[in-house]
Amino acid sequence: MTKIILKKGREESLLRYHPWVFSGAIAQVSGQPSEGDIVGVFAHDGSFLAYGHYQVGSIAVRVLSFSGEDVLGPDFWTNTIRRALNVRTAAGLYPGEKTNCFRLVHGEGDGLPGLIIDWYDGVCVMQAHSVGMFRAKNAICSALKEVFGDDLKAVYDKSSGTAPFKAGLDLVDGYLFKAEGFKDDEQVVLENGNKFLVNWTEGQKTGFFLDQRENRALVGKYSRGRNVLNMFCYTGGFSVYALNNGAVHVDSVDSSKKAMDMVARNMCLNGFDPSAHGESCADAMEFLRDVPEDKYDLIIVDPPAFAKHRGALSNALRAYQRLNAAAISKVAPGGLVFTFSCSQVVDKEAFALAVFSAAAQTGRSVRILDRLNQPADHAVNIYHPEGEYLKGLLLYVE
Ligand code: SAH
Repeated sequence: MTKIILKKGREESLLRYHPWVFSGAIAQVSGQPSEGDIVGVFAHDGSFLAYGHYQVGSIAVRVLSFSGEDVLGPDFWTNTIRRALNVRTAAGLYPGEKTNCFRLVHGEGDGLPGLIIDWYDGVCVMQAHSVGMFRAKNAICSALKEVFGDDLKAVYDKSSGTAPFKAGLDLVDGYLFKAEGFKDDEQVVLENGNKFLVNWTEGQKTGFFLDQRENRALVGKYSRGRNVLNMFCYTGGFSVYALNNGAVHVDSVDSSKKAMDMVARNMCLNGFDPSAHGESCADAMEFLRDVPEDKYDLIIVDPPAFAKHRGALSNALRAYQRLNAAAISKVAPGGLVFTFSCSQVVDKEAFALAVFSAAAQTGRSVRILDRLNQPADHAVNIYHPEGEYLKGLLLYVE
């Protein structure tokens, strides 16, 4: 196995269990590792630090194990996936009656940097974000079969858009496993008793935004008797909760035609009166511009990540400010705004400041009723604070 020796003093972050080795920390590489190989990482004095996946780039090693245990051992994948499942069981998500979809593996949060696996009532949809995880996909699939047994219906690999492109990697999405009789690319799942159709082949990311489960429940709690606008609705998650919890009317807006088609199907699936729901395939900002003041007394603002890297930060903060100022200025007196950011590089203080500036711009009286986060199955490894990405505020606008 290739040995990576770090520069003197550069072992500090690994001793604090941070799971990344930056290329600048490396003094010496013994051998010629291929991308995705498992390598051993050692301090300058030769002491063992960790095993991890090697990759060319600024993060050179993603750590899989800090102990001397051999990560190439036969039980590594089953053990780590079982430990991830234990967390979901502790969080009341598995086995689940009212909720049967959740994130099973959240990368560094579950000690598996570069790997996402979402569970849709027996269908695992995996996305590898590193070469090492992509190359391990068959071992991961075998481990899923062992951990879930007959509960596993299928494993779908959807890494073509996430794994770094490398010559020689066969980046074609497809099933790694299908139980006998399994044939569809979509199925109905339950989230807090609400029904959703999830299509992992056609949908964005793995098919559904599982990270908004708790925040959708909170929207449900505040929806009774309200007129709701769900901006950036994707397949209508917040809209379904609002209508199931007594909203008078909900309008859903997204610029993706495919997403809006799924919204329509989700409305039928939940049996709502068509007159209670409006659907617009439109740019959210443009839609908001034409909204009459006071029409909505609950507005949800859940845009895609405006900043994907640090360089985009200041533009992103300005965009959050503009969007939130528009929403705050339009909501009816006594109305609520649920506003979110899923940009990892925008931390919660920076986001709150952008929303504060937006509120000040409108001159309205605004109170913070709640601070919103990602749920337990999007667990944050305490040694890897970068895993925290979703943040939101619930505002009361007088
Ligand atoms: N709230 C959703 C997730 C939102 S993801 C849920 O609960 O599932 C962000 C969504 O914003 C995507 O569906 C994307 O299609 C949409 N989007 C991106 N740019 C947009 C724009 N300018 N106007 C409206 N929708 C947009």
